Amino acid sequence: MIDNEYTDAHRLFLQASLSERFFTEAKAIEIYRKAYEATAIQDQETFTEFMTTLNTKLNSIELEFRKSHNEEDGTAVWALVNTNGDEIAQMATDYSPIEISFFRRLIELIITADDESFSVSSITALKEVVKLKTSITKSNGEILLQRFIDDKWLSISSGGRYSLSLRSILELQHYLKKEFEDYISECILCYDIVTKGQRCQVAQCKARFHHHCARRYFDSRNNKICPNCQIAWDSSNVFGDSDSINNRSRTRRSTTTRRSQRSVVDEADDDQMDQDDD
Ligand SMILES: [Zn+2]
Ligand SMILES: [Zn+2]
Repeated sequence: MIDNEYTDAHRLFLQASLSERFFTEAKAIEIYRKAYEATAIQDQETFTEFMTTLNTKLNSIELEFRKSHNEEDGTAVWALVNTNGDEIAQMATDYSPIEISFFRRLIELIITADDESFSVSSITALKEVVKLKTSITKSNGEILLQRFIDDKWLSISSGGRYSLSLRSILELQHYLKKEFEDYISECILCYDIVTKGQRCQVAQCKARFHHHCARRYFDSRNNKICPNCQIAWDSSNVFGDSDSINNRSRTRRSTTTRRSQRSVVDEADDDQMDQDDD
């Protein structure tokens, strides 16, 4: 068969994804299989080839399927994202300019939150609505926040804090990196933006891992040391707000922490990782 041939199967896949734009890789593979089944095409591309062909086609209209991982559990996901400059402008079809400016402000609060919590409480979020001095009332603000969640732009934890969804991180990554260069961290293993994970215990060191990336990285190593500064790695030193993290003991970043101080919670939580260091 001809490489990169765009077929009816690709067309079906695209149609099926337009309504959701964002799904797990397992779901994407299911749609891919069904698309081929429906068209009875003989020469089938592998899933990877299939996605490449789709992206080649989508490139001309500034769209692409981008793969990433859920920051909580490492699940592989795909999203159909815009590749043009001001990605936030795409929201204009669904939101008014005032609503978008509220969203921009929320992003700023989330990204610049203290101690890399990358989250904002609902109280703070609603106070911002009032500060914007627009026609949005507090109760409309609540409805709007819920819309951001329903549209998968924001996530909310069981503790009631708002954080960026994976959709936001994927679709707005250029915007985030450009606007908040000093605040955004990239995972030292996969290079994706990381807002929930483990961080180096040395305050000046920029090394950050997603939880699943830390597991992957340290599992195959005898010495658990920071890949950047070579100081002992303390996997209980987590950042970002998430339900799984809320159950852990949050250790404050410290330059004096030693391995002997590693908490029991850390040992228990990360038993997979702990054939390690000492
Ligand atoms: Zn990573
Ligand atoms: Zn380090």
